[in-house]
Order: sequence, then C-alpha cells, then structure tokens
Amino acid sequence: MENKANLKLPMNFTFSQSSLQDYADCPRRFQLRYMEQLSWPAVETEPVIENEKHQQEGNQFHRLAQQYLIGLPEDKISKMALTPNLQDWWENFLNSKFIGAIKNGSVLYPEMSLAAPIGSSHRLVAKYDLIAVSPDHRYIIVDWKTYQKRPKDNWMALRWQTLVYRALLVRAGSHLTHGSPVEPSQIEMVYWYTNYPSEPAAFPYNKARFERDWDLIETTVKEISELQSFEMTTEAKKCRFCVFRSYCDRGTQAGDWLQAEAEMEPDPEHFDINFEQIGEIAF
Ligand code: SF4
Repeated sequence: MENKANLKLPMNFTFSQSSLQDYADCPRRFQLRYMEQLSWPAVETEPVIENEKHQQEGNQFHRLAQQYLIGLPEDKISKMALTPNLQDWWENFLNSKFIGAIKNGSVLYPEMSLAAPIGSSHRLVAKYDLIAVSPDHRYIIVDWKTYQKRPKDNWMALRWQTLVYRALLVRAGSHLTHGSPVEPSQIEMVYWYTNYPSEPAAFPYNKARFERDWDLIETTVKEISELQSFEMTTEAKKCRFCVFRSYCDRGTQAGDWLQAEAEMEPDPEHFDINFEQIGEIAF
C-alpha cells in the first residue's frame, strides 16, 4: 500500500510518549496509527493468548496500585490479585522498601495526567502512574513495568517515555504546586519492575538535560508537522512486532511476545487519558 500523498499532521494534534516513540521506531507506523487512525489488522505478537493475558494482568496491576495509593484497604485490594503473576507482583509491591518509603510522607498523585503546548499548534500529554512529592520537595515520577525481563538502564534512559515524562513535569508541574515552578533538579524518574522489585531504575534530571530534551521534543514535532511522506523503517525486525505488517507487506508471522515486550512498550493505559482531568498550562 502506498503512502497517501500530501498527508499533513492536523493542527492541535496531541502528542504523547507513545506517539513520539512510534515515530522514532517507524514514521509509517506513526502515520497509520495516529493520522489515519487505522484499526489493528494483525496480531502484535505470538502466542496471542499469552500476550493478551500478560497485558490484562499488567492493566490489573496498575489498577491495584492506583487503588492502594489512593488509600483503599490493602486486604480488599489483595483479594483482587487473582492470578499467580498478579499475586507475585502484588506481594513484591507490598514488600518493596522503595514503595513503602514513597507512601509514607509524600504527597501522592496516582494516575495523574499533565499537558503543555508545543509551539502554537500542538500539545504534549502524559499520564503518569504516580508522581510523589516528598517533604523536601523532590518530585519522584514512578512508572510500573510488568516486563518479564528487566531492560538495561541505558536502554530505558533513551526511551521517549523517560524524556517526555521528566520534561513535561517541568513544563506543566506548576499545576501541582499552585503556580510555583518545578525545577529539573527536583525531579527523578523511577521505573519499578514488578518482577525485579529490588532493582528499580532511577533517572535524575537537571537543567541542561531538560533544555536538550525540550528542544528535541519541539524539533521532532516540527519535523513531523512538516513531513509530506512517512517512510517505513529500514529495520525490518521492528515489523515482526507491528500490527500493520499487512499494510506494509512486511510479512504475516508475528514475533514472540517475550522478545517483543520491551520493543512494544505494551502500556495501553497510556492511550487511556481522560482529557477532562488533565492539569494543563494554557496555550
Ligand atoms: S510493519 Fe514495519 S514498516 Fe509497517 S508500520 Fe509497522 S514497523 Fe513500520
């Protein structure tokens, strides 16, 4: 299938870490998913049932964590951990010193959405699993990951999620502070892995890094908004885990989900943003 000619990004497009990551992985995937909004014609990975089960467990874990952090009784939440995986993850969560320390003494914003304009035409939005503000005004962004294998820290450091979540908190964090700015040096992002509870990955922040990141976000958005043609990735291995294989004539056989999970960033909750509840600075 050919790219549509003169396909332009609409004004007021809302970017997210997922769409920017898709663009980085394959411009064509960005076009198909976000501009043409095509449904998913192929399975993402094989075996399908195991992958779906793992994704459902991941979603369920996020719900348990959110309910715990807003203060629902632990024993009631624990009864909802119904599968062996969920029970293991939940036990790891409850026994985690990191989570215990965050829960005691910090102001917690679970499932928080923030947004900010990018230039005059577009905006950037993110839904955070948790932002915890400590008594000494440190802002810890926590993201739960239910990966089977723990990714390398330097790989996670380069993900658009790491870049977007920290930068957006600087740009839109005044929503949490009644107008005071959030400085980059106050921010740290932590990925907490349900299968590796004592090995979280922490990424501090600073002003220079923020300026580079925001510049990259703006440059990338400008690049996308000026593109006329969205090319297919030259890395054919990415196509094995992509639902648009049939559109691109890139094979019919899906890859194995255990190999794919870090590539795919299987976090459906990042698409599930309630736009009525976003803390956003004005255009
Ligand atoms: S199948 Fe390959 S080329 Fe097509 S959208 Fe997916 S990653 Fe891109």
